Amino acid sequence: MQGQTLFLGFGSIQQAVTDARLWEPLIRLADYQSTPRTRSESLTFLTHDLQLDTASAEALVLLLESGRFLIPAQSYDPRDRYSRHALFYELSGEDSARVQKRLADSHVLLLGCGGIGNLVATTLATAGVGTLTLVDDDQVELSNLTRQFLFTEADVGQPKCEVLAREVTRRNSHCRVRAFTTAVTDRTDLAALAVSDLLVVSADSPGLTRLVNTHAVASGQEWLNVCYVNDIAVWGPLVIPGVTGCWDCQPLTAHPPHDDPDLAALIKRVNSRYQAPSNGPVNMVASALAALDVLRRLGGFGVPASLNRRVGVWSHELTLDEQPAERDPLCPTCARATPTATDPRATEGAR
Ligand SMILES: [Zn+2]
Repeated sequence: MQGQTLFLGFGSIQQAVTDARLWEPLIRLADYQSTPRTRSESLTFLTHDLQLDTASAEALVLLLESGRFLIPAQSYDPRDRYSRHALFYELSGEDSARVQKRLADSHVLLLGCGGIGNLVATTLATAGVGTLTLVDDDQVELSNLTRQFLFTEADVGQPKCEVLAREVTRRNSHCRVRAFTTAVTDRTDLAALAVSDLLVVSADSPGLTRLVNTHAVASGQEWLNVCYVNDIAVWGPLVIPGVTGCWDCQPLTAHPPHDDPDLAALIKRVNSRYQAPSNGPVNMVASALAALDVLRRLGGFGVPASLNRRVGVWSHELTLDEQPAERDPLCPTCARATPTATDPRATEGAR
């Protein structure tokens, strides 16, 4: 209770009850249901023990049921490693066992095993994603340790994806993790990668996002970009070929002028000398929100925040920025591509 208000639940599903006459019967009903009860038992409790009329009893039970304030008996089992996540899925009204099974059957390919790759891989593996493929051609450097938290000083000089695979496996031995120390620079490299349920790109090579998008749209591969723009944590759009907008549908990034080659060359030369700042907490924000979208998409609970948009959290101002990424029927990349996704989840909540 806060002031003259009783709150049912917490977080975004909480509901304020200001009618003081309902407070005691609601709390008594919640207490009665702290052990498994049928609906009919609850109604009898309200009408018989608390002497409420039938309509009021029905209304109170409905209030608790409709707001997802009640969870099925045995939803929480502390012996189950995923039990606290199960409660989270129930918040979205999804059957947690079904979500967990979908995650266990899922395969995510991570292109980039730096700060974002570290955290996304760990989040997905510990959440129960069944298969991870890690791709990166870099070695661990001392200057990575401010944000690539799965690496230690002893790992400096070792291939990033192999160290990450080792660390992820230590955290969930049920996750099948494969590591490939290889560069991805063209369509041939992309075509050689395994097909996955979702490709997450956190590598920052120039031109890689457009390359991946072209390949993904043509092959029906779902994909998600995650990055930082200096102090802004950025993720999206989650591209579902044939269903959502793709990377090229709307202008998402700046480009040198096409009609002034000299100026374009100058800009390219200046940019080539630029080393982007990277900050641990900004990496963490981008990774966390992107990983949640991956879990939503693969687990089938809630709606990914990055569908048809690219989202940025401004870490200094704490504001949310978004770029629309709706499908353009004239998009040069995806307009003529036909939907190739056969997974029924492809269209769920994607519009
Ligand atoms: Zn497009």
